Amino acid sequence: MGQKTGVAILGTGMAGCGAIHRLSGEGLEPVVFDKATYFGGHTASFAHEGGYVFDEGGHVSFTKNERLMDLFARNVGGEFEFVHASINNYWRGHWMKHPPQCNLYGLPADLVTRIISDFVSAQNAAPGVIRNYRDWLLATYGRTFAETFPIVYGRRYHTTGPENMATDWLGPRMYRPSLQEVLRGALSPETPDVHYVTEFRYPSHGGFVSYIRPFAQAADVRLGHQLVRLDPRERRLHFANGAVMAYEQVVSSIALPALIRFQLRQLVRSELAAFDQHVYPRWRDEGLSQEQQAAQLEAILTLTDTLISVMHRKLVYQV
Ligand SMILES: Cc1cc2nc3c(=O)[nH]c(=O)nc-3n(C[C@H](O)[C@H](O)[C@H](O)COP(=O)(O)OP(=O)(O)OC[C@H]3O[C@@H](n4cnc5c(N)ncnc54)[C@H](O)[C@@H]3O)c2cc1C
Repeated sequence: MGQKTGVAILGTGMAGCGAIHRLSGEGLEPVVFDKATYFGGHTASFAHEGGYVFDEGGHVSFTKNERLMDLFARNVGGEFEFVHASINNYWRGHWMKHPPQCNLYGLPADLVTRIISDFVSAQNAAPGVIRNYRDWLLATYGRTFAETFPIVYGRRYHTTGPENMATDWLGPRMYRPSLQEVLRGALSPETPDVHYVTEFRYPSHGGFVSYIRPFAQAADVRLGHQLVRLDPRERRLHFANGAVMAYEQVVSSIALPALIRFQLRQLVRSELAAFDQHVYPRWRDEGLSQEQQAAQLEAILTLTDTLISVMHRKLVYQV
């Protein structure tokens, strides 16, 4: 049956580290698993010969939460750099201060005209139903701005279309300008700084992961463990390397679509077992020909496929 732990944590990124910090603070000793052979998830840093350190994606700490600022500062022994942020966007030969919706100055005149005209129409439209991020972008900025900037950028950044995204993550990330702010930014390059990142901190040594690496010391971290099955009934974790871990509680920071895929796979396995046990013997007793059985099976599979797609959409996108 493998080993047993009280609390298992899946993932060593910032979310997994948050769980380690909280649980170890309560006196628990979680066992932490990650499929990667390195610690830190998306916030990992890699040292190269010659003394250079590269982060997996550009990461900085711009939180204004004092508890977190203190925690990160302690984790790097107070050794961090403090930087004032100046953030620009590049679009087809134009540099635009961030956020672009308030800094249209210098863009082609007909584009700016269409952006402002659509922005005004969107602001004056009767409130519609916001089903996803795409609806939100169109309703907030108007069609031309939405389709020229955030929808194009978002497909690359989020690796999916805005129609597949909810809006609960927006917080202060997407600035909602007034008409005055849009007009001022279209007529002048001098605009107030309204971006939510105005300054940030970054560890002086070892890359961004230095902020979270000390959390690893508060747990039993097992890298190279890719979860392939989570069995909530038996309370067991199964890993690709053959390891099995029984747990009392599990905290997962694995992206929800991936986790749901494991569970759906499990569902399909139980469906097949039920089919073998109940349906197939009945068809045999009823004397169904091979062709009739194949047709029935095809109908069941089509229905199962549809149900899985509907469940996946409901669970992941809540639509
Ligand atoms: C380019 C870029 C720049 C960003 N810049 C910033 C920034 O400047 N500041 C900021 O605060 N945030 C930034 N973010 C957001 C930040 O990276 C994420 O919010 C954060 O890293 C998410 O942490 P997480 O723990 O949820 O996920 P992850 O870091 O992805 O951790 C999930 C972990 O689960 C593991 N895992 C997945 N599947 C399995 C499996 N089957 N079995 C075992 N382990 C598994 C993965 O290997 C990974 O280690 C940026 C994101 C990107 C993409």
